[in-house]
Amino acid sequence: MYTSTAFTSEHDTEINTLLQGELDRQLTTLQLIASENFTSPQVMRAAGSVLTNKYSEGYPGKRYYGGNRVIDHVEALAIDRVKALFGAEHANVQPHSGASANTAVYLALLKPGDTAMGLRLDQGGHITHGLPVSLSGQFYNFVSYGVDEKTERIDFDHVRQVALEHRPKLIVAGATAYSRIVDAQPFREIADEIGALLMFDAAHIAGLIAGGAHPSPVPYADVVTFTTHKTLRGPRGGCILSKTQHAAAIDKAVFPGSQGGPLDHVVAAKAIAFFEASQPAFRTYAAQIVKNAQALAEAMKREGFRLCTDGTDNHLMLVDLRPFDKDLTGKRAQEILDVAGVSLNKNQFPYDPRSPFQTSGLRIGTPSVTTQGMTEADMPLIASLIKAALLAADDEARTASVRDEIAALCAKFPPYSGVTSTVSSAA
Ligand SMILES: *Cc1c(COP(=O)(O)O)cnc(C)c1O
Repeated sequence: MYTSTAFTSEHDTEINTLLQGELDRQLTTLQLIASENFTSPQVMRAAGSVLTNKYSEGYPGKRYYGGNRVIDHVEALAIDRVKALFGAEHANVQPHSGASANTAVYLALLKPGDTAMGLRLDQGGHITHGLPVSLSGQFYNFVSYGVDEKTERIDFDHVRQVALEHRPKLIVAGATAYSRIVDAQPFREIADEIGALLMFDAAHIAGLIAGGAHPSPVPYADVVTFTTHKTLRGPRGGCILSKTQHAAAIDKAVFPGSQGGPLDHVVAAKAIAFFEASQPAFRTYAAQIVKNAQALAEAMKREGFRLCTDGTDNHLMLVDLRPFDKDLTGKRAQEILDVAGVSLNKNQFPYDPRSPFQTSGLRIGTPSVTTQGMTEADMPLIASLIKAALLAADDEARTASVRDEIAALCAKFPPYSGVTSTVSSAA
């Protein structure tokens, strides 16, 4: 018997210290990674609940183990909520992650060796859209479409050409680093023209779709996959929506096709996130993410950076560092900013002359700072702090002063009320 339900330092001082260290990092530095967010205490409570103790291979009403009466209700509720949220015919809430969701869709809809088509990985596509070392690239014949070199946007004449040439069985739309609206309708038309299925990977933008800040691909796509932890702001996990026609194949491909027992604690946390995303406040949140991204984009331009496509329609932007400093790589900029208290990631932009390991670009996202309550008015300061940090580079004193300014800004916008850092913020 456990004598306490609290996680106390006597249990595991090493991990406890590390948990506190990560909390301090999150509270005192700027979180600008486009795929991250601060989830709610309700979501974290469910994710840390006794549901982690249960085995429930199968689906509600059809389980391999007993004792699943409560779990069945939890999963059914998550399914009902996500179907209502997105207007979907069918939902599978069991994928452990976005990658697991995509893997299950490929298993459901393709045979090994079949041709599929996705966005070039060096132009914003995800590793699960055919990276040679990934399962998608090993088992399927992925071909790619790119963005237009001049506009840096998806060019549907080109998408159609590639589709007509290779006749993929599955077209994958959606991206991990693309700052504009991805319109599902022209993808649907191209898919129909060649008799292909359409999968829309909404991993990044699921929250924007749920909150009405990005058009929904659900009416157009055969299958929509997404993660629940990015703009949707729920627990780490994945989800698949589909037309009824594909429901049985999708469910079978998730379990037993590619996963074992579901993470019921995470399924409960997903149900909570779907509820939260259905509330009016979430619409305001989604709209604010975009307003903040657009304000930050304008501020970055004023600080001397170039933005891929010259701006953003969503929660992220791709920054071209070359006009600011032609010798500065994305890798180096990420390292400098990390030391100064800004978390973001290096990223290639389309036709980036540098390798994916170096890059000439950065990806910046606003979901986390928006959850913290920052608005357009705070974005110019973030842009100027990024610039100041990059200019301070190897100067320890100047870097420390930028770091203090960042900690002071973060202290004004705590993501969790009443939770404060144990390290002193700005003096
Ligand atoms: C993040 C992402 C995924 C993968 O999600 P994980 O939960 O990290 O596996 C898949 N597709 C796209 C487009 C993504 O951005």
